[in-house]
Amino acid sequence: MGARLARRAQGIPPTVFSAMSALALRTGAINLGQGFPDTDGPASVLERARAAVAEGRNQYAPGVGVPALREAVARHQARHHGIDLDPDTRVVVTTGATEGIAAALLGLVDPGDEVVLLEPSYDAYDAVLAMAGAVRRPVTLRSPDFRLDADAFRAAVHDGTRLILLNSPHNPTGSVLTPAELAVVAEVAVRHDVLVVTDEVYEHLVYDDHRHVPISTLPGMAERTLTVSSLGKSWSLTGWKVGWATGPADLVAAVLAVKQWTTFTSGSPLQPAAAHALDAEGDFPLRLAADLQRRRDLLCDGLSAAGLAPRVPEGTYFSVTDVAELGWADSAAFCAALPERAGVVAIPLQGFHSDPTVGQHLVRWAFCKDEPVLVEGLRRLAAADLRA
Ligand code: PMP
Ligand code: GLN
Repeated sequence: MGARLARRAQGIPPTVFSAMSALALRTGAINLGQGFPDTDGPASVLERARAAVAEGRNQYAPGVGVPALREAVARHQARHHGIDLDPDTRVVVTTGATEGIAAALLGLVDPGDEVVLLEPSYDAYDAVLAMAGAVRRPVTLRSPDFRLDADAFRAAVHDGTRLILLNSPHNPTGSVLTPAELAVVAEVAVRHDVLVVTDEVYEHLVYDDHRHVPISTLPGMAERTLTVSSLGKSWSLTGWKVGWATGPADLVAAVLAVKQWTTFTSGSPLQPAAAHALDAEGDFPLRLAADLQRRRDLLCDGLSAAGLAPRVPEGTYFSVTDVAELGWADSAAFCAALPERAGVVAIPLQGFHSDPTVGQHLVRWAFCKDEPVLVEGLRRLAAADLRA
């Protein structure tokens, strides 16, 4: 295939999530790699989707999304975050957050434009930035605390920066940006008049006393921020790929400008069901977060018992450990050996950093799985010899 592949797609490695899930299937290992839950979201939402198919909601939806879902997204942003949005001009429905991010970057970034982003960075960002011809300016959240380095962030952004690509709660580190960290981002974005695209797919999945604050709610930010989110994580429906982007009308229009030529519109029958999720099952994510917090603690206790001191995450589905403690020189070798050693799959974070030496020893573990699955995975890890 290599020789036939267009240059824009060359040099972009295949997504590690598919590779590791395939490895889990092939080896029968417990999949603590890719972030998807074992149990589906609310029964009433599944029923609403079945009804939509039966009612004949099976032809093209409007490109921007069905009005019921755009209105439900606007109500969601008002109820949870106090954000006021006109659903007709400031909301677009996308095929998952993935399409929202891709369309936003392709619609807003020209070849050679500088984009500042947090590392470790979610792999889809890097692929789309490469296809857009963007110049990446990473700012590293460093192990073990994975906090934003304000000085490094201030140094990375300048008047010529086109866009800041933010992600909080952050995959893979589990950090939730604090009010002080968000204030640094906002101060810098306003000072240098930079656009912000923010990926908030884990907006409801925060633990303990941590709170998610959308960057668009900070002074001076509403007019420069495009916020991307989706149903997948918060309503345990990752396979539906229903997402949305919200913000100023021109930034939403930029998403639609690209989306109309890629997917054109998103799946019709899932849109009324997603609207039902946001309205009638609006508290589901809050119950899910409480439940996930217990599973986070279970995973972290089990990883500690297996000799892998975890970083206790503030949000998301994931915890990160450092396998140098077990003598491993790199996380990819550790994750390749793990199915045979322990019958478990996890995600190496080397590929999430532009300098592979920075994330060389970091491994991500998902705790969004059912409790018996976690218990069995942890039993296997405790029984295995995990030393290099
Ligand atoms: N952003 C982040 C940070 C993610 O972890 C994921 C994984 N689902 C996505 C975006 C993609 O979301 P969706 O499935 O809605 O496309
Ligand atoms: N976002 C999930 C993860 O980080 C699943 C991968 C994906 O959506 N590409 O594991």
